[in-house]
Amino acid sequence: MDETEKLIDGFKGFQSGYFKEHSSQFKKLVSEGQSPKVALVACSDSRVDPAIVLSVEPGQIFMVRNVANIVPPYEGEGTYHGTIAALEYAVRGLTVEHIIVMGHAHCGGIQALMEGGVPEDWEQSYIPKWMSLVDSAKQRVEATLPDAPIDVKLRQCEKEAVHVSLENMMTFPWIEQKVEERTLNLHGWYVDIGKGELLVYDPVNASFVSA
Ligand SMILES: [Zn+2]
Repeated sequence: MDETEKLIDGFKGFQSGYFKEHSSQFKKLVSEGQSPKVALVACSDSRVDPAIVLSVEPGQIFMVRNVANIVPPYEGEGTYHGTIAALEYAVRGLTVEHIIVMGHAHCGGIQALMEGGVPEDWEQSYIPKWMSLVDSAKQRVEATLPDAPIDVKLRQCEKEAVHVSLENMMTFPWIEQKVEERTLNLHGWYVDIGKGELLVYDPVNASFVSA
């Protein structure tokens, strides 16, 4: 059985198991549409699937995934902004009450940012430019932990990048307004799949603490 056949087999298991057991829930999601209260920005990394690590039900979370769970800053009109288009629909269309940016340990995107990009033969790579969106995270780490071992710097940069995305979200007028009206809450989370830990950003102490 190849990898795609395994997935089709997985779907069949879902169809005869979870889908069957929750058929009324799915019927309701179709007839009434989705009304998730939470939007979540996570990394594309295959090891940190939010649906699995947060035990998510269908209809519960509006999900955006990209390399290194980055929210770009406001740039005006006329750009192809996949992540922001998704968040705009979540905030303006679905009126979610929470947006979570969920970083993670051992992020390949952050490693590329900290250790010098992609292999030289990857011509015209999109990754360095994408990761430059959180270059200020790298600069903060180099300024505060200049002599730390690289592993410590990587873990800190993964967390700082979540912080940069939280700051970037506030540059969108339709997010800033709702945050100020207290109808939308922004959260920074960090999952360490190696340790089986979830940390949440505490703005009062400006640090990540155990959930
Ligand atoms: Zn990642």
